[in-house]
Amino acid sequence: METNIATATTVKPAPRWDLESVFPGGSGSTEYKIFRDKVRVDLDKAKKAFAKLPTKLAPAAEAQWIRFILEFQRLGEHLGLARSFVHCCISEKVTDELGHAIFGEVDMMIADWFTLHNGLEALFAKQADKQWEKLMANPKIAQIKFRLSEMRTLAKEKMAPELEALALELSVNGYHAWARLYDKISGEITVDFEEAGKVEKLSVGQLQNKFNSPDRAIRQRAFVKFEEAWNSRATLAASALNYQGGFRLSLYKNRNWKSPLHEPLRINRLQEKTLNAMWKAVATTLPAMKKYIEAKKKLLGIDRFCWYDQFAPVGKFEARFGFEEAGDLVVKHLASFSDEMAEFSRKALNNRWIEGEDRPGKADGGFCTGLNLIKQSRIFMTYADDFGSMTTLAHELGHAYHQWVLKDIPYLATEYPMGLAETASIFNELRVTDAALKEVTDPQQKLMLLDQILQQPFILFCNIYARFLFDRSFYAERQKGALSRARLDELMVAAQKEAFAGILDPIEGHHRLFWASKLHFFYTEAPFYNFPYTFGYLFAGGVYERASREGKAFAPKYRAMLQDTGSMTTEEVAKKHLGVNLTRDDFWTAAVSNSVRYVDEFCALANSTM
Ligand SMILES: [Zn+2]
Repeated sequence: METNIATATTVKPAPRWDLESVFPGGSGSTEYKIFRDKVRVDLDKAKKAFAKLPTKLAPAAEAQWIRFILEFQRLGEHLGLARSFVHCCISEKVTDELGHAIFGEVDMMIADWFTLHNGLEALFAKQADKQWEKLMANPKIAQIKFRLSEMRTLAKEKMAPELEALALELSVNGYHAWARLYDKISGEITVDFEEAGKVEKLSVGQLQNKFNSPDRAIRQRAFVKFEEAWNSRATLAASALNYQGGFRLSLYKNRNWKSPLHEPLRINRLQEKTLNAMWKAVATTLPAMKKYIEAKKKLLGIDRFCWYDQFAPVGKFEARFGFEEAGDLVVKHLASFSDEMAEFSRKALNNRWIEGEDRPGKADGGFCTGLNLIKQSRIFMTYADDFGSMTTLAHELGHAYHQWVLKDIPYLATEYPMGLAETASIFNELRVTDAALKEVTDPQQKLMLLDQILQQPFILFCNIYARFLFDRSFYAERQKGALSRARLDELMVAAQKEAFAGILDPIEGHHRLFWASKLHFFYTEAPFYNFPYTFGYLFAGGVYERASREGKAFAPKYRAMLQDTGSMTTEEVAKKHLGVNLTRDDFWTAAVSNSVRYVDEFCALANSTM
């Protein structure tokens, strides 16, 4: 049914969301204030209760411990709603000053909650195995025992509680401060850029958007300016990276953690063997990636593929999709797999859980935030009536569905690691894109769609892999001392050469200052903020492939799998629900070959349209 996507119609503006039913009156809501005040009072009570908690888990203390743990959980869920709500308020209106102030206030309360969290985990670590097992057998906490035991294990791997508390305090003005300094360096860069006879002052982010231009000259000019701008700040950025890396390694040494991957693997509930199996499979796609880029070079009319060509668009897809039409399409494509997923998405659309209107004053980007406490979610985006917006809508509805299946699960069992967080969203995206691909007949539209599909594995297998390789070699050398700016450049070019395996032009194709220009290298909340993207994409792809083979029969299994994402390790989720061993090659081999299945079609179409 080509009509769905090929017709240009006049479209109704996307709707605004309903926040009133959560708390009436926005950030200034009286009900919201009463809610926050109550949480604050309860948090203070919890602090006092924690101080009185028997430090030894004797049988007589068990009931008191359980009560405290459940209250701690309850507070976490309430704080979650407090934060999500004000996040929605300041996203729909970035000038909401009161909202920003409340956001800071709520964050302080969350910091208090984390202080309790750290106190609890230290207490957990002190208990003998036998007492601990007995506590875990209590049916009142049966569903959250994975998270509680994980807290205990993590605490055991750390320093003594008072040293951890000191490290945490020092990291505010040390470790994390380097990341904030980096943000400042990056935020203060402005570049004069001339386009169509007009000179504009651009931020580095805006300049980077020019890499998406269909005009090669613009992309190239933007890249030269971009490297110049970063070159002028490179020694500062090198210092920030070295100091923050040094801080991290000192902390690891004192915790007796041998590998810089220890922390990111823990955060992702993942084994190193799994990560290695994944990258090994990824490497086998390089011939397919090269073929794809060769065809793309022909389409773009270029013979040297450079860093700034990675996002160059090909094909044309000018069809307009109104919000309503996009919502109908998403529901339709989900219904062919799961009635429940379709019904859920319809409900989210009908109940106005989505902020889609295109108007000034909104924040950039999109997100889906769970309001666990009231068993709802809210999606934030700026709907632009194009295909990309439709896939974003499908993506965010996937996140909302994931939150929906977790709605009756206790809060401490609903927090899933980053590598699993994108399963439902990418799954939805793949469904919608695949369906669109089947319906489209125009070669230019098809080219654009195929390119959009293939650009994902290309970026995840080459660009993200280069970031991983850089991080790995940076930390290996940083153990011995600070790296010079020139050495960082060298490591970066070497990482790109290996990850792109000759795809980037050897003379002018690399982005040697990528280590400086990419925020992710400076992100202190999660080190190695790269491989979870590739993992998430491939994991979702593997699940999607299974769903395509098994059809509707897989839907209940899919749902059950999502429900377990917050209560076991990533390997256990895969073993229990997919019957696969992630530390072995087979799952990954199937997932990577599935992700490049359109390469031949793209190449054939590219040849026939020229
Ligand atoms: Zn997402």
